Amino acid sequence: MRAVIRTIAKAPDALSGTDSPAARELQKLKAWFAAPAGSPPAFAVYKSDSVKKQLDELFHGKCAYCESFFASTAPVDVEHYRPKGAVSEDASHPGYWWVAMDWDNLLPSCIDCNRKRKQVTPRLSAKLLTLQDDRQGFNQGSLLLSGKKDSFPILGQRAMSAAQDFADEYPLLLDPCRDNPEEHLKFHIDRANLIGLVLPRSHAGADLAPVAGADAALDGHIEEALAAGVSLKGSVSIHVYGLNRLGLVQERTRLLRQLEFLEMLALEVGSMADELVPDPDAPFSVTVASIAKRLYFLQDQILGEMKRMARPEAPYSAMVRAWIEDFKVRLQA
Ligand SMILES: [Zn+2]
Repeated sequence: MRAVIRTIAKAPDALSGTDSPAARELQKLKAWFAAPAGSPPAFAVYKSDSVKKQLDELFHGKCAYCESFFASTAPVDVEHYRPKGAVSEDASHPGYWWVAMDWDNLLPSCIDCNRKRKQVTPRLSAKLLTLQDDRQGFNQGSLLLSGKKDSFPILGQRAMSAAQDFADEYPLLLDPCRDNPEEHLKFHIDRANLIGLVLPRSHAGADLAPVAGADAALDGHIEEALAAGVSLKGSVSIHVYGLNRLGLVQERTRLLRQLEFLEMLALEVGSMADELVPDPDAPFSVTVASIAKRLYFLQDQILGEMKRMARPEAPYSAMVRAWIEDFKVRLQA
């Protein structure tokens, strides 16, 4: 997950203005919830073409949660950060219908992050403490239920109607437009054992708000995260979005192998050039100088390719960026 600044894209036409389709839909919903009769009005505006277009632009055709590029194989699936029609953690909640057409509440999501289903997940991904001890977690992979759907776990007081604001809610799910995912998530980067896992970051109490008000279903998970001293938001998000499901870990691992290969290539090509021209002031043949120059050029190309893999439009760019940061440290050493 990478942070996205929503304000760089303009709000979609369907959601802007006092007489927009969104404003009219909200009026209808308000009237229905004030005096329910018959079936409630349908939610339709959130999936307008203008919404899809702006989300596609803002997120580069990638899932807001897992950064998988899905635009080439599936149309953008518009997801509600605060679920519109129900809240799985609270059966009495009608859903956050009043923000069903709110631009700030809409995100593009891949099917796997959104739909609730069982996913093969390394056995220890939920047990944050022991992951380091058992790196072969996938051999004992198990089926865990993941996918956001109507989940919206919070700490604090849940807003039940449009009259209540969200100030008393502390969401336990990351929103790449509101949170800085980097503060809550880190990638497991171990060159001796390449496996593309994402882990919650250690937290010295920053988001360790009082646990009162937590949803019962997540109690165990929250206790574990608190005991381990890791980000609650990070930990719950990994669990609910299924950020360590098998297919995703495999894709990220493939990318890590590619980065490892490119790094090896860049260093090797550089050291070949260094060996050819150990002292730039000493005399050497035109051929040697030309080959050295080409090798340095090649090295630049390889480093450029690694940087391209970390661009916002590239899949899993947050992980690639983390790799490059580590690479810089290795270069210094
Ligand atoms: Zn996803």
